[in-house]
Amino acid sequence: MSALICEVVYRGIFQKNLASRITRGIVLSARKSGRWGIAFGRYGDSPQRNGVPAKDFAIVADTKEELEQNMARYEPKHVDVTICVDDTLAKGVESWAWYGLQPINRLTLPDGTLLMTSLQPFEDLLRDIHKKDEPYTLAVIRARASFSGLWVYKEDHTEVRILGALAKIAPSFLTLDGVCQAIGEMEWGSELKVASVRKAYERLEARRVQPGEGNPEVPYAFEFPRWWEMREGVTIPAIPIGKPKEGGKGYVPERNPYFKKFSTRTMRPVVDFDTCVKCNLCWIACPDSCFDVMPDGTFDANMEACCGCGVCEAVCPVENCITMVNEAVFEDNASQWDMWRNDKTAYKTWLTDKITNKKATVRSHGFRFRGQYEEEVKTDLDAGGAEITAGIPGENAKHKTI
Ligand code: SF4
Ligand code: SF4
Repeated sequence: MSALICEVVYRGIFQKNLASRITRGIVLSARKSGRWGIAFGRYGDSPQRNGVPAKDFAIVADTKEELEQNMARYEPKHVDVTICVDDTLAKGVESWAWYGLQPINRLTLPDGTLLMTSLQPFEDLLRDIHKKDEPYTLAVIRARASFSGLWVYKEDHTEVRILGALAKIAPSFLTLDGVCQAIGEMEWGSELKVASVRKAYERLEARRVQPGEGNPEVPYAFEFPRWWEMREGVTIPAIPIGKPKEGGKGYVPERNPYFKKFSTRTMRPVVDFDTCVKCNLCWIACPDSCFDVMPDGTFDANMEACCGCGVCEAVCPVENCITMVNEAVFEDNASQWDMWRNDKTAYKTWLTDKITNKKATVRSHGFRFRGQYEEEVKTDLDAGGAEITAGIPGENAKHKTI
C-alpha cells in the first residue's frame, strides 16, 4: 500500500484556477491509471488574495482504503511532490495562515521532488531555494510561469505540462497514457494539450540536490505572543506614527512588524533616484505605505512591505523612473537608495541591467488592459508556438520603453 501526496503552491487569485485544474487533473489521471485520488484546497477564504501564496493538495493511492487513511488527516505534513507554479516562490512562502517565511521545499520528503515551471538555470533557482538536510530532486519544466488576472484563466498549457511531468516523476501512480486519456476527455482538454503532456514528459529536466545545497539564509520567523501575554478584550491598535530618518530628515512610516511581503510579489519596483522629481505620487498611492521619505526628498520602496502591485509604476509621471521588474532577478531586499547614495555610477549600471532584464523576464500580475489576452494569443500564434508569452508591463507601457 502506498500513496503519492502532492501539494500545489500557487498565488491566490492569480493562479487559483490553474492550481485547481492541476489537482483535478491529478485525480482524473489517477483514475485513468487505475488508482484512487482526491483533491482539496488548504484554505477557503483569506489566502485567495492578490498574489498571496496558497496551497491545494492532491493525494493518489493504490487502494480506496489507503486513500481514506490519508484523507483522515487535516492536511498533509509531508509531501512526495511539491509543485510550485511560480518560480519567484522559490524564495519561500508566507501566507495568511503561516507565521514567517517557509522554505518552498519545507514539506518535500527526503528523496521527494520539487517541480517548478521556470526559465531560470538550476543554479539560479538554488540561490533562492533554502537548503535542506535531506537530498531531493529539483525538476524543472522550461516555460514561463503562468499568470492570469483575477478569475480569467490563461490557456497556456501549464496545467497539462505539470501533469505530463508528474507522469515522469511518479509513473507508478500516474501513467503517461492515463494522463493523456484524462486530458483528452476533460472539458478543457484537446489534442494539442495531449501533445503538450507528452512533450513535458519527454523534456522534463531534473537535478539531484544534495543536503546543504541551496540558499543558506535562515528564513525569517517570529514568535506570536502567548494568550496570557495578550491584552484583555478585542483591541486593534491604530498604526503608530512613524519616525524621521537620519538627522531628523525624511520619514519612515510604521509598518506591520510581523507580516512581511517577501513572497507576495512577482515583481518589484526599481527606482531611478536621479530622475525623480519628488512629486510624492508614489508615496501617496502605494497601498502598503512602502515608501520611506529619504533625507533628500526622494522615495525608497521598502522591500519588507512591498507586495509588488505596480501602482507606483503606474502613477509615476517620469518615464522609466519607477520600473516594475521580475522578482526572480533580485537576490536580497536591500535599500536601493542606500546603494544609490553609496555609488551613483554603480547604481546606474545596476539599474540599467535590471531594467534591461525586464525585457527577458517580464511577467504580469494579470491583465492590465482590455484585450491583453487576445493580443498575447495572437503574438504567440504569429510566433508559431502554443506557449503564450507572459505579461505586458503597466498600462502606461506604451509610453515607456519596454
Ligand atoms: S509595487 Fe509600488 S505601490 Fe505596490 S506595494 Fe510595492 S511600492 Fe507600493
Ligand atoms: S512618483 Fe516617481 S517622480 Fe514622483 S516621487 Fe515617486 S519616484 Fe519620484
